[in-house]
Amino acid sequence: METTVTITGTGTPRPAPQRAGAGVLVRHAGQAMQFDTGRATVLRLAEAGVGCDEIDAVFVTHHHADHLVALPDLLITRWVMGAREPLPVVAPSGPLDRFGAYVLDLWADDIAVRSAHTGRPPAPEPAWTAFEAGGAPVLVWEGEDCRVTSIAVRHEPVRPAVAYRVDTSAGSVVISGDTRVCEEVERLASGVDVLVHEAVRVGGLSPGREYIAEYHADTVELGAMAERAGVARLILTHLEPAPADAVEAEAFGDDVRRGGFTGDVLVGADLLTVGLGVRAAAQSSVPSGGHGVDSNR
Ligand SMILES: [Zn+2]
Ligand SMILES: [Zn+2]
Repeated sequence: METTVTITGTGTPRPAPQRAGAGVLVRHAGQAMQFDTGRATVLRLAEAGVGCDEIDAVFVTHHHADHLVALPDLLITRWVMGAREPLPVVAPSGPLDRFGAYVLDLWADDIAVRSAHTGRPPAPEPAWTAFEAGGAPVLVWEGEDCRVTSIAVRHEPVRPAVAYRVDTSAGSVVISGDTRVCEEVERLASGVDVLVHEAVRVGGLSPGREYIAEYHADTVELGAMAERAGVARLILTHLEPAPADAVEAEAFGDDVRRGGFTGDVLVGADLLTVGLGVRAAAQSSVPSGGHGVDSNR
């Protein structure tokens, strides 16, 4: 049974053409799991051929808006598309508890008028599952042939922030969320097929924006960490500064190599899709419409 990983957004808070906000879609055994819902996630899902009403669960890494802003869009769109059951949302306990309680409140009048007009029941509140994030992995979700675990990462002053790991019979993938390079992700990603990790080129930050390096992952350090963890394939996302062309994208991969990483490196582009459990096989699943820059050499 194949597991696929699709990057639904490689962007950051700063808008960049062709880069939606943070998000990763993992599909396995007919299940669709969405990790973070940044700007334009709903559009990227449509491009990937996945309806909002086909998402089985959403997992949130932290309460920064660039990872969350499309959650109301997803919730309302799936309702308009016919979904009547609450959408399971899994998130670390903290500020997100409030967000989960209020997420549909801004749209109460819209929901009321649509409901009255069409006779359909009001949009269901999400089925919010909060968990305590800590320094050891905890099981947060179980599906068919599929387990999701989570660990707290290092995105201070944002607390909590977490990474997720999905294990299926086909393989394993870790999604870092936002974090400095840290030993928590290194442990969670030990021996995984795919690590989707955020990345910043510190030398490329414009003056006045150096603070970004305090809580995001330096590409060279990331290469060293991924090598220690024995990661087979590293996908870079949440690219800062956003590469304007293939040469600038390639530079992210070069940094990772400089850090010592010897596995495959893909500099993420929206809709880049890879399969798990294919370590020894040819990787062929970048769809038309995906624009992955493979800097593997
Ligand atoms: Zn963040
Ligand atoms: Zn972010």
